[in-house]
Amino acid sequence: MNTGLEQLEAIVARDLKMIAYPESAWVPARSHDGQDVLDVLVVGAGQGGIAVAAHLRKERIERILVVDHAPRGAEGPWLSYARMHTLRTAKFVTGPDMGIPSLTFQAWYEAINGEGSFTGLFKIAKEDWSAYLLWLRDVLDLPVKNSTTLKKIEPVEDSGVLQIELQTPEGLQTIYTRKLVLAHGIEASGRWWMPPEIAALPGDRRAHTAHDIDFESLRGQRVAVIGAGASAFDNAAVALEHGAKSVTLLCRRPELQRVQPYKVIATPGFLGHFGDQSDERRWRVMQHLLSVREALTLETWTRVTIHDAFSLMTGAPVLSAKMIGNEVALETPAGTVAVDFVICGTGLDMALDSRPELEAVARHAAVWGDRYQPEVPDARMGRFPYVDGGFAFVEKTPGTAPWLSRVHCFNFGATLSMGPSGSSISGMKYAVPRLVRAIMSDLFTEDFDEHLNTIEGYALPEFPLTFARDSEKTGV
Ligand SMILES: Cc1cc2nc3c(=O)[nH]c(=O)nc-3n(C[C@H](O)[C@H](O)[C@H](O)COP(=O)(O)OP(=O)(O)OC[C@H]3O[C@@H](n4cnc5c(N)ncnc54)[C@H](O)[C@@H]3O)c2cc1C
Repeated sequence: MNTGLEQLEAIVARDLKMIAYPESAWVPARSHDGQDVLDVLVVGAGQGGIAVAAHLRKERIERILVVDHAPRGAEGPWLSYARMHTLRTAKFVTGPDMGIPSLTFQAWYEAINGEGSFTGLFKIAKEDWSAYLLWLRDVLDLPVKNSTTLKKIEPVEDSGVLQIELQTPEGLQTIYTRKLVLAHGIEASGRWWMPPEIAALPGDRRAHTAHDIDFESLRGQRVAVIGAGASAFDNAAVALEHGAKSVTLLCRRPELQRVQPYKVIATPGFLGHFGDQSDERRWRVMQHLLSVREALTLETWTRVTIHDAFSLMTGAPVLSAKMIGNEVALETPAGTVAVDFVICGTGLDMALDSRPELEAVARHAAVWGDRYQPEVPDARMGRFPYVDGGFAFVEKTPGTAPWLSRVHCFNFGATLSMGPSGSSISGMKYAVPRLVRAIMSDLFTEDFDEHLNTIEGYALPEFPLTFARDSEKTGV
């Protein structure tokens, strides 16, 4: 191992020791159907799942497991469909480090590249972010099982546990857990979305930015990219860099979004307490943020617009898409575009019921549309899950599925209720401790009688009743 990293790991061990109080595990062990029950199962070993697991361990919740569908090293979007060179997030944003300096990205980066190297870094390369997350989980010795997929969640009546079905390399496995954290990606409460007219095109003529795209096959081709967010531009850049004959980006709005609205909410007040506000306030703020969307960065703009083969059409929502002969014709108010291939940078849609693994949750969980009727309805926002202050799903009809309080939504689905939180680097510093506190509170409250027995039965004497002067004489 790199000596810088070895030294850093020694510092990490020392730092963790210095803040180890209180050290005792405190959650009583449970079993169900002859099996040990987990305290918490975390689904997803991306940045969110790793940060949650690290915090749970720090609070001495020991019986945890993190599972991830992807093989080790391939978690999250970073090495697959994230097609930018660097994270868009500023390099100094902290998140999965629990506020411990030796666990920050900066400490890891300087351990590898030398002291002071962070000063010269522009932004974090996505490959480095992925490697850092792997290091974190290793240095904290977090229990992660890769190539393991959540397939089904089932409540077990009056048992205090959830039954979980996992697809593992060894086959289907049933396990039990008291709490479940869904950190399985930005799209984990819904699905990547394409306009229906594009989805209806032949499969070899269109893709979503989240798909595995063979860019080599686009050499010499005419490509349209629909959408004007960061991922749309990243995909336009890769198509151009692979020698596409032309790339036309179709932006619905009359003008490109150039302001980054998420910068103005990056304050301790907002990130820490947005989730405490009334429905009306949260709706109003998130409606604004979700409607303006995120702007792309200057470097992404430069990466794309340096190419002569690039063109931008604004005020160009796609009205229809059809095959005419061997080409795709996209009709827009700004004119019709004829291309060979279409890439949709059209984001995702909230739809709990589109996730087979969440079938039971989707049947019972309230969404915003069940809880809040704004003056101007917004169907898209109304589909966001309505989660409580600890990220737990709540029942659509009270009393029908109390077990939902065991399932915590730590992905983009929680954003309308909690602001930047799950699936967000910038919100993680506040969101992860909040989630973990809620889990601790629920477990402690549920086990209160056992804790009371422990407290009342505690009988370890601090000193013997023998007088010191007598024991000095007898040597006992
Ligand atoms: C293309 C792209 C670029 C982004 N760039 C930035 C950026 O620059 N800056 C920024 O702040 N944010 C960025 N984001 C937003 C956000 O930070 C990322 O989406 C981030 O990966 C979210 O972390 P996560 O842990 O919630 O999910 P992920 O990192 O996606 O991890 C989820 C994990 O869950 C696993 N999984 C999925 N389904 C299952 C299942 N059923 N069972 C078990 N495991 C499962 C997946 O294999 C995956 O490894 C970007 C998002 C995307 C999509």
